[in-house]
Amino acid sequence: MSCLKNIYTCFPGGKHKVLTMSYDDGRTEDRRLVEIFNKYGIKGTFHLNSGLVRDDRVKMDEWASLYKGHEVSCHTVLHPTIARSPIEQVALQVLEDRRKLEQAVGYPVRGMSYPNGSYTKEIVELLPMLGIEYCRVVGNTDDFGMPEDYLTWKATCHHNHNLMDNGKRFLELHKTQYLYMMYVWGHSFEFPINNNWEMMEEFCHMMGGKEDIWYASNIEIVDYMKAAKNLKFTIDGDLVYNPNAINVWISVDGRIHEIPGGESIKIQ
Ligand SMILES: [Zn+2]
Repeated sequence: MSCLKNIYTCFPGGKHKVLTMSYDDGRTEDRRLVEIFNKYGIKGTFHLNSGLVRDDRVKMDEWASLYKGHEVSCHTVLHPTIARSPIEQVALQVLEDRRKLEQAVGYPVRGMSYPNGSYTKEIVELLPMLGIEYCRVVGNTDDFGMPEDYLTWKATCHHNHNLMDNGKRFLELHKTQYLYMMYVWGHSFEFPINNNWEMMEEFCHMMGGKEDIWYASNIEIVDYMKAAKNLKFTIDGDLVYNPNAINVWISVDGRIHEIPGGESIKIQ
């Protein structure tokens, strides 16, 4: 006799939608962007080059305070087009960037975005050996699916590409049988060039404070999905053990269960 249940991974709080932002190069315009994110409770990831010390970049001694509550992530030391670089130089560009970023922010830096969008199959295979767990590519999917490969993680859209339309479509998604992700990327220095700071403000105002959306940095999504995948279920599906340190949420036949880190719970 079958007693199968429909068991689904949920995001924290039993939610099924996540919004994340991803901004490159650490330019001084990040200050205004972070202020907007913080005002509306939006979370993001900032991919920084530790070797480009220039007046138009946020200085290392400001990183920890400016990006607090968000994620600081690799973008290589000098921003080379790495598909053209010797592979051991690529390794150094990543590891040395990690080292500097970690010294500044005080946690293991495990994310990255490809500088100039440049990568090869060989680099994708190298990154996990350098402790990199995801890496963002360029381009737009105009879609809200979860990534198949976090090492070639493609965004829903650049902020200059259908941002408001995609945001409205995302807000209207209610089918709970899917997990949905909206992922926006760009560079903060583009806002003054295109004179569209107001668009980002309007977007964050529209998207912020929603009950059914989880606001997360890139690495928080990766960490959470790994934890969810690591849950241990009985064959009967009547008990689940969460060996992770963080709590994980699932739905069982439509009912939400929160499984505390390190604990087992019975599920009906
Ligand atoms: Zn860049």
